[in-house]
Amino acid sequence: MNMPITVALSKGRILKDTLPLLAHAGIILKDDPFTSRKLIFETSRDDIHVIVIRAADVPTFVENGAADLGVAGKDVLMEYGGNGLYEPLDLKIARCRLMTAGREGWTGQGTRLRIATKYVETARRYFAARGIQVEIVKLYGSMELAPLVGLADGIVDLVDTGNTLKANGLVPMETIAEISSRLIVNKASMKMKHEKVKQLIGLLEEAVANQETGG
Ligand code: AMP
Repeated sequence: MNMPITVALSKGRILKDTLPLLAHAGIILKDDPFTSRKLIFETSRDDIHVIVIRAADVPTFVENGAADLGVAGKDVLMEYGGNGLYEPLDLKIARCRLMTAGREGWTGQGTRLRIATKYVETARRYFAARGIQVEIVKLYGSMELAPLVGLADGIVDLVDTGNTLKANGLVPMETIAEISSRLIVNKASMKMKHEKVKQLIGLLEEAVANQETGG
């Protein structure tokens, strides 16, 4: 039986860095996902479709079986929580760090700190594990602004080059986690579509190894 496979990706870095890995695995999208308004893409393999959705929605689609596989940042997976997904492969793309940051001289200590972030659950867990009481201010973007306008004492955000922090007079403090994108798989798909899913994981594994050696 030729059961189709749906792969969930998200726009931005993940899409940009995942397409070469898929291409190495012989999977080429028939339309350009960066310019197309389509949400479902056919590929060079007629049994594989790609859907493009919001990054934070990828685990939801995969856990619920709306997609068989997906690519999600470790930051998104940590925030999503639970154990309803398999995470068989580190794709080693979109690497960065999830960090705390604040204004120059901020110690990250104090009582009832206010922390601005979109990573509410991850930040709460991180500070709780250190016995630091915090009030989380949920934002959807531009976290760097919060300490500058008195909305928060510090932030939890992704840091790559550190340029965004620097441009806003902030300094990185502690690394909460090293981040990269992971291949995630729906648990039922792993059983029901085992051969195909296993083959795809193998092909992507080769693509990652090839990418690492600069091939
Ligand atoms: P940078 O200035 O290079 O440190 O990049 C920081 C900005 O880019 C922040 O706004 C981050 O949220 C975002 N960013 C950095 N790395 C990633 C990543 N791997 N995926 C998504 N956003 C990222």
